[in-house]
Amino acid sequence: MDIEFTMQQGRLYMLQCRVGKRTAFAAIRIAVDMVQEKLITDKEALQRIEPDALNQLLRPIFDLKQKEEAVKSGKLLAKGLNAGPGAATGRVVFNAHDAEQWAKSGEKVILTRIETSPEDIKGMDAAEGILTARGGMTSHAALVARQMGKVCVAGCNELDIDYATHTMHVNGQVVKEGDWVSIDGTTGQVLLGKLNTKPSEVLQVLIDKTLDPTDAPVYQEFAKIMQWSDKYRKLKIRTNADQPDQSANAVAFGAEGIGLTRTEHMFFGEGKIGPMREMILADTVEQRKAALAKLLPLQRADFLGIFEVMNGRPVTIRTIDPPLHEFLPHEEPSQRELANQMGISYEKVKQRVESLHEFNPMLGFRGCRLGVVYPEITEMQSRAIFEAAADVKKRGIPVEPEVMIPLVGHVKELEHQAAIVRKTAEDVMKEQGVKFPYLVGTMIEIPRGAMTADEIARVAEFFSFGTNDLTQTTLGVSRDDAARFLVPYVEKEIYPKDPFEVLDRAGVGAVMKIAVEKGRSARPSIKLGICGEHGGDPSSIEFCHLIGLHYVSCSPFRVPIARLAAARAALLNDKPTATKPARKRGKKASTKLLKKTTKKVSRKR
Ligand code: PEP
Ligand code: MG
Repeated sequence: MDIEFTMQQGRLYMLQCRVGKRTAFAAIRIAVDMVQEKLITDKEALQRIEPDALNQLLRPIFDLKQKEEAVKSGKLLAKGLNAGPGAATGRVVFNAHDAEQWAKSGEKVILTRIETSPEDIKGMDAAEGILTARGGMTSHAALVARQMGKVCVAGCNELDIDYATHTMHVNGQVVKEGDWVSIDGTTGQVLLGKLNTKPSEVLQVLIDKTLDPTDAPVYQEFAKIMQWSDKYRKLKIRTNADQPDQSANAVAFGAEGIGLTRTEHMFFGEGKIGPMREMILADTVEQRKAALAKLLPLQRADFLGIFEVMNGRPVTIRTIDPPLHEFLPHEEPSQRELANQMGISYEKVKQRVESLHEFNPMLGFRGCRLGVVYPEITEMQSRAIFEAAADVKKRGIPVEPEVMIPLVGHVKELEHQAAIVRKTAEDVMKEQGVKFPYLVGTMIEIPRGAMTADEIARVAEFFSFGTNDLTQTTLGVSRDDAARFLVPYVEKEIYPKDPFEVLDRAGVGAVMKIAVEKGRSARPSIKLGICGEHGGDPSSIEFCHLIGLHYVSCSPFRVPIARLAAARAALLNDKPTATKPARKRGKKASTKLLKKTTKKVSRKR
């Protein structure tokens, strides 16, 4: 405690007592030491550590003194959204290709873009950190960076980027390609110059495997906190991952399954973007099927890698979701290159890209709408999933795929897609002479899906709340354009926090509760989870606990934060008698719970 007191005429007056400010390192050391000295219980220890503070242990951090001096000497350029925690320093490059090339020649780079798109994925991977001028907490840059474990500052409006001259103006200063900048993804600060970073002990033990746990005191304290968290939490913790290495990182952090594999991220991997573009540009079903046939073995190999790493843990794979134009090149040189590759005219490619333009792509031809209009895509993706499942099963590796259909608003959309998935599963099992368990479910990410969740649950064996889109569609706020006005909105206390970061319980949460109630009324055993970015946010995790979800799914580096947050939610909210895990509660109990949580939630607010 931080105590102020005075003595007056022989009497002691306590003036103020506050909980002492401490770094995450100190908070954890104090909590673990006090349990070992039997001064507090492990439950109390967990209550004393803010889950988000674990970020300081899981990511590289700046030398604090050096950073303070840099700020004092006017090196702070701007502040954006703290979209991917950690510290990164590198030289500014303005496109993904340069990021890759510079990194290949040993340079550390910060990829700086107005906003990122799937085309930038390799450059994002090569960069130390990602900095964008536009986009919110669930923009492409933010969610891909978190999944990769990259430092990211997004939606930094003060950056005025000029791609043509490879420069940016920031609050009166000019930053050129090659200049050093340092970005703090925990605070959102962007600083001019090179700052030293300190590696994370936990990462060296768990991910890099370069440090022995017995030589890592901070890791040992971290491991104790995780062990205690697992003792008390009711929620399972899954991860959002699309690559075997991301999945392996998540398992090392304690993930118990994959809650979301975004298959579209795989299409930018080696050899896939070509056939993908052929598929999009196809004029006939036959041409589309021919391109899909090229993609099938490549997708199958992706899923194989993930199933092997996950070794029997459940894996939720989502069929293609984004609008198709995201896969096509938008600049003339790359459109010409594509035309050459495909043996068609540049004009044809240009015209097709233009024809795919939409005014509101987020509300346009995306999600299950793609699979409904082009069923052969769903068929290819399901076949790839199930052939991979059959392969690992034959090799004695347990497997449990869950195929998830995105953006369902009407039960008939799901019926259409589920029929294709189930038929393909049966075909593959017959062809391969092997049986494996699988589930078909849906994302609940648009209000109509939530409002008709009872109808949808007759078809869906699981729901996963896509709270990025559900927030966008419930609030009517574009997730990609929100940064500009959400910051002033939060300053004016219209929303207490960015609703794309911390779940809006009164609005989006209310929609989720309706879906849980309706879903359980039609299928009491329905599996319920969340895979929007809120699945890694402590306050939102508490809400998921309160409404009785079975799991939360978050990016790999947030898994430990989610484990602690889930334990704290259980310790804070569950009466000692209510020891039954949420997933075992039947319909009646869940209805009671919903009534109880309504009170609890509103009391908290
Ligand atoms: C979501 O909408 O919450 C979600 C997980 O899907 P995506 O972010 O890919 O739209
Ligand atoms: Mg979505």
